[in-house]
Amino acid sequence: MSDRVSNIAVLGATGSIGQSALAVIAASAGRLRPIALSAHSRTGLLARQAADTGAAWVVATDPQAAQQQDWTILPAGTELLIGPDALETTVRRAEVDVVLAAIVGSAGLRSTWAALDAGKTVALANKETLVMAGPLVTALAARRGAKILPVDSEHSAVFQALQAGRREEVRRIILTASGGPFRNFSRAQMQHVTVADALAHPTWDMGPKITVDSATMMNKALEIIEARWLFGLEAEQIDVVVHPQSIVHSMVEYLDGSVIAQLSPPDMKLPIQYALTYPARTAGISPRMNWTQPQRLEFEPPDLERFPALTLGREAARAGGTTGAVLNAANEAAVAGFLQGELAFTDIVPACREVLEHHDFDPSPTLDELIRVDGWARKEIARWVCT
Ligand code: NAD
Ligand code: MG
Repeated sequence: MSDRVSNIAVLGATGSIGQSALAVIAASAGRLRPIALSAHSRTGLLARQAADTGAAWVVATDPQAAQQQDWTILPAGTELLIGPDALETTVRRAEVDVVLAAIVGSAGLRSTWAALDAGKTVALANKETLVMAGPLVTALAARRGAKILPVDSEHSAVFQALQAGRREEVRRIILTASGGPFRNFSRAQMQHVTVADALAHPTWDMGPKITVDSATMMNKALEIIEARWLFGLEAEQIDVVVHPQSIVHSMVEYLDGSVIAQLSPPDMKLPIQYALTYPARTAGISPRMNWTQPQRLEFEPPDLERFPALTLGREAARAGGTTGAVLNAANEAAVAGFLQGELAFTDIVPACREVLEHHDFDPSPTLDELIRVDGWARKEIARWVCT
């Protein structure tokens, strides 16, 4: 990174990734500046973040929540914009250098698309964008000369390990998975888990949707698809290994058998910072490994019987087309149903499978078609949730 200040638009500033990003930016000694912030319903926190950072633009995407908020604490130089369309105009502004895409779910697609269309560097936490529309999103980035830098810890690790060799020398990548809170649960035990059980992740502190995805291992399924498009790999070149300590964030195996890994304590501030300062590395505020204490790193193959989401992810990565968008939307709707107490934990993945199997597959859909199948898949899940 040059000495020039880099202006960051933090989309999803009130979320787990967004808040960690603001901490990274605050500790950057002025090299990173939060020029724009967005949030959906937590407008009180958004207003405080704007007051603390002096961001030039604040986008409140949920108009109802925005209308109920008292915005008088906003600094004089801060402009308030309301509604989802304001995200697209904000990310396109000439003053924005990097867009941190940290909105959760398919709601993050349009703003990520607009940022890439404007040729911006996108630090991508919102994996759902690539799961839904990987080929279209990466083609757009290539056309506009825009960079996509991964924030997801596994993909950041792969991105870093890929710097040890040439692309044609890569045999495969190995994504690590913590295994989530139910790593050692039998299928029978999983039938009785509650929302609170699923939200108690052993190693990572994240937003509710991705925490449930970790418990079903759908998160790893989505990450297989994300990696396929981000790194241009075949589905067969992406393996998953369970690593409960979440210290090794992922690995690249080269043709000669050498495996290059990236290690650090489980904290998202490091991959966020790397994406924001790339290609530079700076001291930052991420916790460091303590090698003075004994520690154990374990690896075990995933159990596909107990975690059938992984098979779904691999199938979707292989099939491409509309499959990723259908799987993603079905999962978002099913997780929302589970969090509202309307769907059993063990029904999330079977519901997704059934919706996938009933969809009209299109091998090369347009963006509009993907948005349409996203809506269709959500309606299909509604039938599971109601019965
Ligand atoms: P979160 O639920 O904590 O935060 C989500 C953010 O998105 C909030 O700021 C919220 O206001 C905003 N948002 C929600 N719905 C919206 C909508 N309809 N329109 C506009 N904005 C909306 O989520 P998170 O855990 O920070 O995850 C954010 C993204 O990063 C997800 O795509 C997730 O998969 C990915 N990710 C998160 C982690 C992590 O450690 N939390 C790790 C890897 C990847
Ligand atoms: Mg991850």
